[in-house]
Amino acid sequence: MKIEVWTWGTGGPFGRELGASSSRRRRGHTATSILISEEGDGSGATAHCMIDAGAPAVESMIEKGISSPDILFLTHPHFDHISDLDRLANSRMRGLMVREGVRDIEEAKGLFGPLAVVGAGDCINHPADGVRARFGYLEGLVSWKPISAYDTWHSVHQEDAAGRGNGSVEIYRASEERGGCITEITGEVGRAFSSVAQSGSRTDGLLPLEFKLLPVSHSKHAPGSSIFVFRFREGVIGQGMPGEEWEDAPTINVVISGDFKSMEDWVVDSHDLLDPACLVLDTNTIIACGKYHASFQENKSLIDRWTTGDEEVLVLLNHISGFGDYVEGFYDGVPDDRDWQEAVDGYAPKPKVTVRIAEDGGCYRIK
Ligand SMILES: [Zn+2]
Ligand SMILES: [Zn+2]
Repeated sequence: MKIEVWTWGTGGPFGRELGASSSRRRRGHTATSILISEEGDGSGATAHCMIDAGAPAVESMIEKGISSPDILFLTHPHFDHISDLDRLANSRMRGLMVREGVRDIEEAKGLFGPLAVVGAGDCINHPADGVRARFGYLEGLVSWKPISAYDTWHSVHQEDAAGRGNGSVEIYRASEERGGCITEITGEVGRAFSSVAQSGSRTDGLLPLEFKLLPVSHSKHAPGSSIFVFRFREGVIGQGMPGEEWEDAPTINVVISGDFKSMEDWVVDSHDLLDPACLVLDTNTIIACGKYHASFQENKSLIDRWTTGDEEVLVLLNHISGFGDYVEGFYDGVPDDRDWQEAVDGYAPKPKVTVRIAEDGGCYRIK
């Protein structure tokens, strides 16, 4: 199994400052992709899970030759995390049409089905601030999948991806009696249909992956703000429904935070956050402690808490802004890349822990 984490945009909510210094690297809004494929598999079969959809993620993915996502997870409904959702839904469907020689959009909707959009219940459905309140018109191109239960493993299972590229994706809540393994459906969240990789390639079974949401505090206009834990099990890729063989399979966790200022102790202490293979972390400022985002100063203690030093962990600092550092007087201007690098270089994490600034279009192989 090969897992790559791609980071798109990686900038703060407002990007660079218009009319001010251009010394800072170009960074757009935030999005992350996890690409999973079979090691040495020449079929090009790849499962693509996208987390957040800040612009210009779609253009960046096209430039890098990345296939459409099978499923989109949203950490919260702030604009800088959903600003490319319209583009993503439309561009994906049109990409499928062109690739498969379908000329009628209504026919295409029947053939390929909508993109599954997964988030906490309020993130999707909050009447004022939920993503559906803003992008409800995309129904048909997307399929909304609100998740009602925090701290509960869910499974994404891809049934059949043969044929014209319309593999079905289903989301199940895990059975707790089975240690998180799914041998029975204890509460179906929803059924989604999603396209998968290249036509003609059999990617069924590349998913399943499992995921859970943990709640975080961000801002009052970001209902359902969550951190995502993704769990991949080695050796079970390509199999059908998860069964007993899953219980002994080694796991690889990837943790993706959206924006957060703080989280409750039980979340910080969650065993699922310990020693992930990759941790993508909202790190908005270097020193300044604003109201809505964690700073690098604060995140250092989280990184120390979530790593033991016994496992390889790649930490990617994301959502880079630094504007608060300027406002609070820690820097004379908005910190540029050199300032950020100096801050990172001045931090000594535990052994086997690597801390890097996530790059726009960066690809990080973690397995
Ligand atoms: Zn944000
Ligand atoms: Zn936000």
